[in-house]
Amino acid sequence: MDLGLQGKVIIVTGGAKGIGEAIARLVAAEGGVAVIAGRNEEDNNKTVNDIVKAGGKAVGIKAELSVVEDCQKVIAETVAQFGKIDGLVNNAGANDGVGLESGNPEKFMQSLQNNLSHYYNLAHYALPYLKSTRGNIVNIGSKVATTGQGNTSGYAASKGAINALTREWAVELLPHSVRVNTVIPAEVWTPLYETWINSLPDPKEKLASITAKIPFEKRMTTSEEIADTTVFLLSPRSSHTTGQILYVDGGYTHLDRSIS
Ligand code: NAP
Repeated sequence: MDLGLQGKVIIVTGGAKGIGEAIARLVAAEGGVAVIAGRNEEDNNKTVNDIVKAGGKAVGIKAELSVVEDCQKVIAETVAQFGKIDGLVNNAGANDGVGLESGNPEKFMQSLQNNLSHYYNLAHYALPYLKSTRGNIVNIGSKVATTGQGNTSGYAASKGAINALTREWAVELLPHSVRVNTVIPAEVWTPLYETWINSLPDPKEKLASITAKIPFEKRMTTSEEIADTTVFLLSPRSSHTTGQILYVDGGYTHLDRSIS
């Protein structure tokens, strides 16, 4: 299937690592230009170089996305270099463990800045360009918005808001033929996941107990599997799909837990 992404300019936040990296690589493999927006220049450059070596097109933009001006810069630099934006993948974020009891009002607000505000800010600043290309937005959410996890109020609130904004933006942007969808991962092995599991008392045992509960094939989802669905949604092959929240999670969020 030709996804029709040749020459499409797609911004991927957090595109240097993990899920974002897999999305950026696939965008480029499909002939698009991956614009990687992330805070660590070295990480950005490494992924850009790998993509270019493989024959793809990519650039990096250094941006701390919790800062509004950096979000503006990402859009301005993309347009200055390529003259258009065809897609925005809001992906950067981290489960930062700001709990009801363990956190405080300042940490909660900071968590919203790290996990939610830049999704809005980038969509806001990209909007004139997305309207002119009839482009689209894919947000990366989390199962936490549906299931809860405990001790992560800021992250859960952000991911819940992202689900709500998916429907809200899909409605607001109907007149402009700009589609908005969200992909929900549950358990995906990435640098972030590795750091989190290693912060627990018995990482090996915890990992085994999690994977045993993943209904489909008792294994983690790969970043590439998240990327496949995300890039399909970005593409014109999903031209009548909008306002959807898709769970790419091996059934983790919704299937019966009593199944063996
Ligand atoms: P990751 O391995 O940490 O990669 C995320 C990338 O985004 C990193 O390069 C990170 O930079 C960058 N980033 C994060 N916050 C940023 C900010 N404020 N400004 C600029 N760059 C920033 O994470 P991942 O596991 O791929 O997660 C990607 C998305 O999937 C997140 O939204 C996460 O909530 C969601 N998700 C993941 C899982 C999972 O199992 N992995 C499950 C559910 C949802 P640093 O390395 O400097 O932090």
